[in-house]
Order: sequence, then structure tokens, then C-alpha cells
Amino acid sequence: MSKKPEDIFNFSETSDACVKCGKCIPVCTIHNVNADEVTSPRGFIDLLGAYQNGNLDLDKNAKDIFESCFLCTNCVDVCPKALPVDMIIEQVRSDIAQKFGIAWYKRAFFLLLRHRWLNDIAFKLGWTFQTCGFKIKADINSMNSRFNLPMLKTDRLFPSLMKISFLNSHKENIDNGGKRKVAIFIGCLANYNYKDIGEGLLEILEALEIDAFLAKDQKCCGAPAYFTGDFDTVDSNAKHNIEYFESFGADVEAIIIPEATCSAMLKIDYEHYFHDQPEWKERAIAIKDKIFMATEWLQHHTHLEQLLASKKKDTKIVTYHDPCHAKKMQGIHREPRNLISKNYNMVEMSDPNVCCGFGGVTMQTEKYHFAKAAGIPKAAMIKKTEADIVSAECSACRMQINASMGYADVKTVFKNPIELIAEALRK
Ligand code: SF4
Ligand code: SF4
Repeated sequence: MSKKPEDIFNFSETSDACVKCGKCIPVCTIHNVNADEVTSPRGFIDLLGAYQNGNLDLDKNAKDIFESCFLCTNCVDVCPKALPVDMIIEQVRSDIAQKFGIAWYKRAFFLLLRHRWLNDIAFKLGWTFQTCGFKIKADINSMNSRFNLPMLKTDRLFPSLMKISFLNSHKENIDNGGKRKVAIFIGCLANYNYKDIGEGLLEILEALEIDAFLAKDQKCCGAPAYFTGDFDTVDSNAKHNIEYFESFGADVEAIIIPEATCSAMLKIDYEHYFHDQPEWKERAIAIKDKIFMATEWLQHHTHLEQLLASKKKDTKIVTYHDPCHAKKMQGIHREPRNLISKNYNMVEMSDPNVCCGFGGVTMQTEKYHFAKAAGIPKAAMIKKTEADIVSAECSACRMQINASMGYADVKTVFKNPIELIAEALRK
């Protein structure tokens, strides 16, 4: 992108740059489930220009509109001017949060994300009592509510909790006798809910004789807060993580992340977020070169592909979903496919690039009807492939796709590519 963030956040300049060609509309996730010009990329840009020029009040109606974007970046991908709709929506959500405040349950959630010790306690308590309120489906790390409550319907699948988090299950330095060393940034969902991802990553590093540093002082990347406009949490977590990465960066070859959203947040969104804090922006840029999605680094910097080629082929069929934060934001889509295809038969769904409909905390709570409507076509697409497994290097996609497959009665099982690769290495 040639534009500087400070120009991008000038909404009226971005609005003036829109040529109203409408190319973004057919691919827009929210417009596809709510066909109204105001909830389309072109509409959002127009309204943001009007807001900056003083012609639009940030009232409840405007709040409702700006909170309807899934931040999927489909529009940015096809826009001839590459107008960053997602970034300006993220920015205006901070104004919304300041004007209207943030709902108590979101504030409570973001408070947990700011303090890992508190998060550890909350998730441990959650694990202890989860069977009281939920029916556990251990085979897919998910659970259904036993009661029909406003945001906890009995037919909706949620990720279930683990007794001990991934980071608390291992020592910080794991010596695999290698001459190489990487740090792992695990992400909250893989730490507390989908623990097999981290376990698989450790198995892969062991097979490659690469030492692992678990970077236990890492905090949530801040993405859930960023997408909700809670910039205080983003500021606190981003500065902590940058300082922490600087403290050990020289000792590791890379910081690898088996999660598209965390990786995109650390590598791309930190720089955008710090557009008006030059010192921190420079520090965010300086750490970027060490940050990789796990499959990206394993594919390009190790002999994993050759190692997998020496292992048996599994008969299971895998289809791969492209997380928005992997393909569209980081250009990562070949790497997971290259690695998975060494040991599994792959079949492509009709449009792997279509957003799963996760959309962030607000979309998963107050606006869940949109997330559900966007997710069901994805589940149908997966069903049509007749694949045994659907894979994506993103646990937010996993949470949403598992829920969507639950509604559509799709029996395909979700696995992160790291879990599939680790399974292949065991054979
Ligand atoms: S980011 Fe996605 S949902 Fe939001 S305007 Fe763009 S295409 Fe539509
Ligand atoms: S594709 Fe870009 S330029 Fe065209 S209407 Fe959409 S935002 Fe405007």
C-alpha cells in the first residue's frame, strides 16, 4: 500500500478517492447478508466522509451501521484504489467506544485479555464449571449451552475450555538439541481452547531439531479489542508485546504464530494502530521481520516439506479455508496447502476465499444474526466437498466454522494445518 496511515485515517480523503465503481459490493460479506447500500464498503466510506466533514452525527444509527462491517477486507482486495475500508472502520469504532462506552461483558473480556494471570484463573474456573452450563463435545473441542439465553442459544457451538493452558503445560525453553531456535506466539484460543495446535507445533519443532522458546510473558495480541474500538487495551497489550519481543528477539530466528489473526495484528495492524505515535510505530516496524505465520516459516525456512514427503499418505480428504487475515492481509495461502498436500488428499471448496463470517466480538454477540447468516453458506460449501477435514490456520475461523457446521449438520471435522502436519509426522 503506497498511502501513509496518516492519510488513510483522513476519512474525507478516502471518501473522495472512492470512484463509486461498485466492484466491492458483490464481494462484501455484510452486504451479502444485509443488502443495503449503507452496509456496503461504498456506503461506509461515504458515511465516514460525511462524519469527518461534520455532516453526520455519530448517533446510535451510525454506530449500528459501522459495527456491521466484518472487517474481512474482501473489498480492499478488489478495490481498484485499494481503499482500506477495514482500517477506517476500526478507527471510527474507537470514536464510537468513546462516545457510547463499551458493554460491560466486553470490558470484562478485554480486562482478562490485558492480564494473563487473571485469564488463567478465569479459564480454570470456566473449565471447572463448564459442564454445569454446557454439554461438552470433547472430540471437536466444543460445547453447546444447556439453556436458551439471549447470546447462548442451545444450538450454537462454542469452544470448550482446557484444564491447563498450553503455555502452562510446558517449560519455557524446550531444547530439541538443535542449533536453531524459534519463539512461539500461541494466541488466546490456541492457548486455552484448541491446545492441540501448540502441542502439534512442539512435535514439529522436535522433528526438525529446532529449539522452542514459549515466550510465556506474551499477552493477547489485542485484535479483539482493536476490532471493537477499545484502544486502551490495544495500547497496553501492543506496547507490552513489542517491548517483550525486543527483549528476546536477538536470541531467536523467528517468532512463529499458528494463527492468522494474531499474526496479522502483530505484523500489520500494530503499525497502523501506532500511526500517531511515531516512536512506537518505528518499534512495531522493527519487530515485523521476525514475525511469521507458522506454516509460512516452516515451509520457507525448514526442510519440513521434504520430511513430510518421506511419510505415509493418509486416506483422509482435506479442504482448506483461507482466513481473511492470512490470504488477503498476509498473502499466505500456498504454504499450508503445500505442507498438508504432502500427506493428505486435498479438494478445493468452490470459494475458499469467502469470509467465514466470524467478524469479531460485536459480530459474535449483539450482531450474531449476521455472523450466522454469513457462516451457513460456508458450511454448505464445505459439505459439498465431502471432505473429512476442513482446515484453516486460524482459531477464530475454527470457532465460527464449527458453529456454522453445527447448524447445517455438516460432519466434517476442523483441524489447524499444524495439527494435520503433526499427525502426519507421527506415522
Ligand atoms: S471489510 Fe468486509 S464486510 Fe466490511 S465493508 Fe469490506 S467487504 Fe464488507
Ligand atoms: S471498489 Fe473501491 S473505489 Fe469502487 S466503490 Fe468500492 S470502495 Fe469505491
